[in-house]
Amino acid sequence: MKILVTGGAGFIGSHLCARLLQDGHQVVCLDNFFSGQRSNVAGLREQPGFTLAEGDVTEPYDFSVDQIYNLACPASPVHYQRNPVGTVRTCVLGAIHALELAKRRGIPVLQASTSEVYGDPQVHPQPESYHGDVNPIGPRACYDEGKRCAETLFFDYHRQYGVGIKVVRIFNTYGPNLALNDGRVISNFIIAALQGKSISVDGDGQQTRSFCYVDDLVQGLLRMMDSARDLTGPVNLGNPGEFTINELAATVLRLTGSHSEITHHPVRADDPRQRRPDITLAKSKLGWQPTVALEEGLQRTIPYFRKALGLHGT
Ligand code: NAD
Ligand code: UDP
Repeated sequence: MKILVTGGAGFIGSHLCARLLQDGHQVVCLDNFFSGQRSNVAGLREQPGFTLAEGDVTEPYDFSVDQIYNLACPASPVHYQRNPVGTVRTCVLGAIHALELAKRRGIPVLQASTSEVYGDPQVHPQPESYHGDVNPIGPRACYDEGKRCAETLFFDYHRQYGVGIKVVRIFNTYGPNLALNDGRVISNFIIAALQGKSISVDGDGQQTRSFCYVDDLVQGLLRMMDSARDLTGPVNLGNPGEFTINELAATVLRLTGSHSEITHHPVRADDPRQRRPDITLAKSKLGWQPTVALEEGLQRTIPYFRKALGLHGT
């Protein structure tokens, strides 16, 4: 098949493109490099089945493809808050343009939604039936509400025009190909630890996240795309192992053998206090669950950052 991956030069997108090529598909990657990296697609560009289309999903586009994975959107708070209006446009117009192409060609489209649709959740762990607690006017809203509106568009295109949709809600995912300036917690902590700089924990560090290794996530995306047509989602994809940010900092220090100090900084506005996916649905409908525990995933990720930082050894 020929498959379009928007945001294919980003962290998750680059792994997805690599996996699709490995499975024998042709891949078109549409990306404007807002938060993606050319190095993520450098190796892919040498493969005959790969096409890089530089462009912005806020503009209409057309490709002769059989499936669409819509991943284009900055995912790190640092990046999505850099141009909040741009983030809303990417979420909303990007969804419309992916859905229009799917409608025109009668092909399925998968939306990379997010655990952020649950906001600062009052229900824990989060099942898909929970509608969330999101501040519509705070600094995270451009992303949270943008992604919520994208979900709305997906379901309205499905109901109104019969477009085949697949909506997954991705929980914090990590691994190689995260940009050095990504700004999310795992990359920040590993980089600081490897450089012997202080590890900066926001607030008391008792807030929790559940971290999914990228290979597991990509497997979930493929299972969802290949699932029965009537499975629209939303389906949570994430690792139910839950850790405080303090625990993460301690684990990163231990695995890197670093003696970096831990410093505390003001808590971020609207920062979710807790987050853990209920993956009952993914298990039953997709036969999917993560296989890589946090420590193992970190051990696979640390060498990537050593290399990216130009450090030697493992
Ligand atoms: P990323 O920032 O590394 O990748 C996003 C990619 O989209 C980048 O290559 C960027 O250049 C591209 N992009 C951004 N705006 C664009 C635009 N207007 N037109 C074309 N390309 C554009 O982020 P990621 O972690 O790989 O996330 C990929 C997707 O998964 C995003 O939609 C994100 O919301 C979703 N997601 C990720 C996580 C996670 O933990 N990584 C969690 C939940 C949801
Ligand atoms: N965080 C932190 N130090 C950092 C980056 C993030 O303490 O250098 C905290 C952040 O405040 C949040 C959690 O780690 O509570 C996860 O942040 P991240 O930006 O990775 O993703 P989020 O899940 O908030 O979108």
